[in-house]
Amino acid sequence: MTDDERKSLKQKTLAELEALQERISALEFSVGQIPPDSEMDSATRRESLDYKRRCEAEMRAAIARIPRLEATVKRIDAPDYGICVDCAKPIAMERLTESPDEFFCEECALD
Ligand SMILES: [Zn+2]
Repeated sequence: MTDDERKSLKQKTLAELEALQERISALEFSVGQIPPDSEMDSATRRESLDYKRRCEAEMRAAIARIPRLEATVKRIDAPDYGICVDCAKPIAMERLTESPDEFFCEECALD
């Protein structure tokens, strides 16, 4: 991996981290905008409960992903970044470009 590739993966990870944090704030905001139950009829209430559950599920997924991305940002500068933790072969650049937080090469991920 070249220094430029490393740098661009790091920028990509930081950008994704920022986007996730923005997404979480946006979701928190939109859940907060849902009016109280007493102000809605039952159909609207069902719909808004459904919407709230979807927002919360997305928020949980985003929150769960953040530590992984933060760890990746720290790991990117280490010499063993981009090396499969299983077989110790380099992970394909295309694979890292797609998800910089990848720990396994394609073959090992399939096992
Ligand atoms: Zn491997």
